Amino acid sequence: MSAKIISGTETAKAIKEELKKEVAELADKVVPGLVTILVGEDPASQSYVAAKNKTAHALGIHSEQVTLDAETSEEDLLALVEKYNNDDKIHGILVQLPLPKHIDEAKILNAINPDKDVDGFHPVNVGRMVLGEQCFLPCTPHGVLELLQRSGVETSGAEVVVVGRSNIVGKPVANLMLQKRDAGNATVTLCHTRTKDMDFHTKRADILIVAAGVANMIKADQVKEGVVVIDVGVNRIGVTESGKAKLAGDVEFESVKEKAAAITPVPGGVGPMTITMLMKNTVQSAKQFAGLA
Ligand code: NAP
Repeated sequence: MSAKIISGTETAKAIKEELKKEVAELADKVVPGLVTILVGEDPASQSYVAAKNKTAHALGIHSEQVTLDAETSEEDLLALVEKYNNDDKIHGILVQLPLPKHIDEAKILNAINPDKDVDGFHPVNVGRMVLGEQCFLPCTPHGVLELLQRSGVETSGAEVVVVGRSNIVGKPVANLMLQKRDAGNATVTLCHTRTKDMDFHTKRADILIVAAGVANMIKADQVKEGVVVIDVGVNRIGVTESGKAKLAGDVEFESVKEKAAAITPVPGGVGPMTITMLMKNTVQSAKQFAGLA
């Protein structure tokens, strides 16, 4: 058996078309606005921020990009966040992580108005998510849910195994999958580096979600026949002939796809969904500020 490939590129494209239409329909009432704030010159962060601004622009979202010197003080960054908290044109504030070591990330994220926290990292939004209340869902976990839902994967009653327990992927995705909601209602197991027998868990999974950051760590003999695999990992494993970064997921795609019912590729799987969900949250925020949602 060879798996169905769950294309994040195609799914993201469909959602972006929907958003573009929605932004056009909102135009006489509100223009969604997003600001991205980048501190320093990390090349990966630069390319993420550029991609976010490019996508926003393509959808008709007003986007501003602020790039600050790596030496910027915590105080100045807090003042900038406060400025955008009070800017009526801006409905979403994204501070690109990681921040330089001299800046306390938690302090910066906590300073963002939760109503403009389109990344969904503010403790208020995390709390609302855990309680199952209306909030901005963190973009990558939200993207995983949308991928499963739009691919027609039944999560209700499924054994879902998540590998990785970070605050931005593993913990929220596990939490969302167990909630009483669409793309939820699963029985969830969360694995990490202290898990005693990883294979025992991964082999039981109906749906396996991997976010460990270890290239090709999940092999075919660690999954069961017919599993649905969502590979969140993005690992740079070299350079292509054209000089671009060569990427691999956390799952050994070629062998696992022979056993799986469905699988996401890397690149072209979860990656394109993350930016799209950021746009979705920004449009949602604009509608909330305009009293339309
Ligand atoms: P992270 O903060 O480094 O967390 C990795 C998690 O995986 C940790 O909980 C760690 O366990 C666990 N882990 C690592 N090695 C393991 C192993 N051998 N066995 C079991 N568990 C293991 O990473 P992250 O930020 O969640 O990102 C994970 C991956 O997803 C990375 O490749 C990242 O680039 C990618 N990512 C992709 C997107 C996207 O848009 N596609 C977005 C975000 C992240 P401990 O807690 O015990 O250390």
